[in-house]
Amino acid sequence: IYLLHRLHNLASKCASSGGRPTPNAGRFGDYSCDSPWTLINSTMSAMREILPDPDFIIWTGDDTPHVPDEQLGVEPVLRIISNLTHIIKSTFPNTKVYSAMGNHDYHPKNQMPPEKNNIYEQTTNLWHDWLHAVSKETFKIGGYYTEKLLNQTGFRVVVLNTNLYYDQNKLTENIKDPADQLSWADKVLQDAAKNNEKVYIIGHVPPGFFEKKRDKAWFRKEFNKRYIDLIQKHSAVIQGQFFGHHHTDSFRMFYSSKGSPISAMFLTPGVTPWITTLPGVIDGGNNPGIRIFEYDTKNF
Ligand SMILES: [Zn+2]
Repeated sequence: IYLLHRLHNLASKCASSGGRPTPNAGRFGDYSCDSPWTLINSTMSAMREILPDPDFIIWTGDDTPHVPDEQLGVEPVLRIISNLTHIIKSTFPNTKVYSAMGNHDYHPKNQMPPEKNNIYEQTTNLWHDWLHAVSKETFKIGGYYTEKLLNQTGFRVVVLNTNLYYDQNKLTENIKDPADQLSWADKVLQDAAKNNEKVYIIGHVPPGFFEKKRDKAWFRKEFNKRYIDLIQKHSAVIQGQFFGHHHTDSFRMFYSSKGSPISAMFLTPGVTPWITTLPGVIDGGNNPGIRIFEYDTKNF
């Protein structure tokens, strides 16, 4: 399995720098930059070289560069998602891709609506080949979907739109269950248990804290609690969770109310080496990365 995260693009050597000078940006960019096309294409060819035929690919979102909203717009955001979809598709034409939206894959950024809108609709169309008919229906409403993993009996994927829980999202601030996603996921996981299925959960913004800044959480507190409740309730069927957003190669542990470990979430590094501008973070950059996961095909 490949895990992809944040394949930025735009200009040549430095797609965005957060206003920092980057006089020495090289062919593949700089730590102060988002990914130029050369880095994205190099990433894709490395993936094809390292593992030409993965079972499936997980794309955890955040496709657009860190630039002020005024420098983007609905059309540029959709064009970037479209370009990246095309690059992934042409590199891995026969591979199923499970893709989640990131908080940067909307305009204005972070403001994912808990209802139907043009960007969910257009993104559904871009991902046409990767989504089942029923997945398209829920994706258009809330940016989430579920399918049997690779159409196999006993295995399921749940792709969530956790941008709805992001504390920067003003549209969902006073909503208990934005886009009814949590009650939907609760039902999907309950049915999975009934049908003896094992489930992978995929998303973008993770619950918990940022390891590079003390006490920095991404979810609103009440959403963080509801998410953990969901995992605690259904941990018996959840075999793994795969998220992005942090740009760090790390993981989260989930515990039962009694303190036993019950689930793990893997966070993928970013393709962009971009050093965060989040105040209070030291050493915010990372080397471009993707992850290959090996799993037991009998039990996940
Ligand atoms: Zn993000």
